[in-house]
Amino acid sequence: MSKKVYVAGGGAAGMCAAIYAARNGADVTIIEKNTILGKKLSVTGNGRCNLTNLDMRPEYYNKAAVGRMRNWLSLYGPEETIKFFKSLGVIVKSEEGYIYPISGQASTVVNALINELKRLGVTVITQSQVKAVKKAENDESPYILVTNKNKYNADAVILALGSLSGAKSTMSTGDGYYICKQLGMDFKDTYPALVGFKCEDDGTMPDAGVRAAAEISFYLGEELITSECGELQISKDGISGIPVMQASREIIKFVTEKKPVVASVDFFHDYDEGDFEALKLDMLKLRDNRTLEEFLLGFANSNINSIVLKKMKLSPTMRMKNIAESMVLCILDRYRDIRFNLTDSYGFIQSQVTTGGMSLGDIGDDMSVVGMPGVYCAGELLDVDGRCGGYNLQFAWTSGSIAGTSASI
Ligand SMILES: Cc1cc2nc3c(=O)[nH]c(=O)nc-3n(C[C@H](O)[C@H](O)[C@H](O)COP(=O)(O)OP(=O)(O)OC[C@H]3O[C@@H](n4cnc5c(N)ncnc54)[C@H](O)[C@@H]3O)c2cc1C
Repeated sequence: MSKKVYVAGGGAAGMCAAIYAARNGADVTIIEKNTILGKKLSVTGNGRCNLTNLDMRPEYYNKAAVGRMRNWLSLYGPEETIKFFKSLGVIVKSEEGYIYPISGQASTVVNALINELKRLGVTVITQSQVKAVKKAENDESPYILVTNKNKYNADAVILALGSLSGAKSTMSTGDGYYICKQLGMDFKDTYPALVGFKCEDDGTMPDAGVRAAAEISFYLGEELITSECGELQISKDGISGIPVMQASREIIKFVTEKKPVVASVDFFHDYDEGDFEALKLDMLKLRDNRTLEEFLLGFANSNINSIVLKKMKLSPTMRMKNIAESMVLCILDRYRDIRFNLTDSYGFIQSQVTTGGMSLGDIGDDMSVVGMPGVYCAGELLDVDGRCGGYNLQFAWTSGSIAGTSASI
């Protein structure tokens, strides 16, 4: 008789696990709280779904996960992911190593997974909330999966219940943490990550949003925590964009604890010191009767100029001929160190991933829960988070495929 495998959660990891278990001959049922499968997956990558990344390194994941990821990625990495999606009829393309479905639509990925579940005869129960996994007593199956509507006898259970990150419609309510804690598993504190930050309102934040390439360095007091380059976005209440999201994984704990975290922005990071000095001297030669605002127009984005002048408490209407040379140099230098005090993150709803979760110390190499043979975890429920760029979905595919295969044996 085929093994009865129940998958709790029909997101990226759950659907992948169900496919691998069913391909191995198991009788698989997915239980999903939402009305549809793969809701979060359908909004990934700005609707394009960045499936994985060819530049895959264990170091791109949180410190606690690096060693385990080395092993798991050697079993199932980007190559396996691309082959898997090809087997579902999804052809992918690489944009500098970032892998997307060639259709440019995340819905392609979701529909291909759902079609494969149908083809394999996987039962899907939606609008049903998993509440607990219990050891069965005097029953032929070792586990009972309890939902708000029913109880199911299971030979194996895969918990793929996701995290706290994402819009409310994605049902990222952290139910899995509670269920796993009931099983005696250790929990690592959770924080939103791949997220932007609110900044202190010192009257210098721009009314209109600003987007510009920059290097951003984050300091805790005087100590540098991390630096990232990329397109920074500054809005009326905070900073975001890829470099901020990437750094968020390192700084979120400090910001949440209300420690003094400062972002220092360098809009001329691609200039070495000599080139920047030469640029400043060229600018000096342009001093004439224009206003400071007019003078700076040729130097940087007007919204950035306005932030700099406000930070330095300088009037844009000052005449250049009345500003000392040393002061002009000081103004230009400021573009390499514009500071923002971070006050809070934009929270779980606007975050793409959750740091923390169920401890990997309770997870075997086959994704089983230590001491509970037949129960497995997969996906973001676990204390694994990666950089922005396909790394989090890669973990969903990696852990889902390993859990699904292990559960079906
Ligand atoms: C806006 C956004 C964009 C992103 N873009 C990318 C990207 O391009 N590339 C990338 O690598 N990562 C991206 N991510 C991260 C990625 O989506 C997640 O890491 C991934 O979806 C995690 O998969 P999962 O299966 O663990 O969790 P989920 O996909 O969240 O699935 C968990 C499922 O469990 C269900 N569930 C929860 N509780 C219960 C319950 N009690 N009973 C039954 N079902 C339940 C949920 O409804 C959900 O369907 C993005 C995230 C967001 C929010």
